Amino acid sequence: MEITGGCLCKAVRYRITAPPIVTRACWCRVCQYLGAGSGTVNVCFQTAATTIEGELADFRSVADSGNVMHRRFCPHCGTSMFSEAEARPHLIFVRAGTLDDPEIAKPAMTIWTSEAPTWACMDPVLPKVERQPPPAA
Ligand SMILES: [Zn+2]
Ligand SMILES: [Zn+2]
Repeated sequence: MEITGGCLCKAVRYRITAPPIVTRACWCRVCQYLGAGSGTVNVCFQTAATTIEGELADFRSVADSGNVMHRRFCPHCGTSMFSEAEARPHLIFVRAGTLDDPEIAKPAMTIWTSEAPTWACMDPVLPKVERQPPPAA
């Protein structure tokens, strides 16, 4: 199988040769910045199955858990592309909006609901987790 995607300006493209592990909608405070007010939808893949072409900028931060996080984005168009935790280098989280076919990224749960604003729209059918769930794999 091959899943493809890239940024708005097409300077960054990626190919993934394994199926998604899990997809989650995230309303953590950081995602509200990245999502321009909304949450984000993130598809977890095996890093080893992912090939990225093009230059990425990296915003490094330390999560409340102590995890060092890298959030990578296209320096030309600003599209948020990937999120990775140094503690789990075998996993990469791809922003669902960058997939060529966003239909493959149907969320299985909503996380960090405790940080969402009162007006946030969440799928009532999906399980909600107030903070960070256990690691995907
Ligand atoms: Zn771009
Ligand atoms: Zn988040």
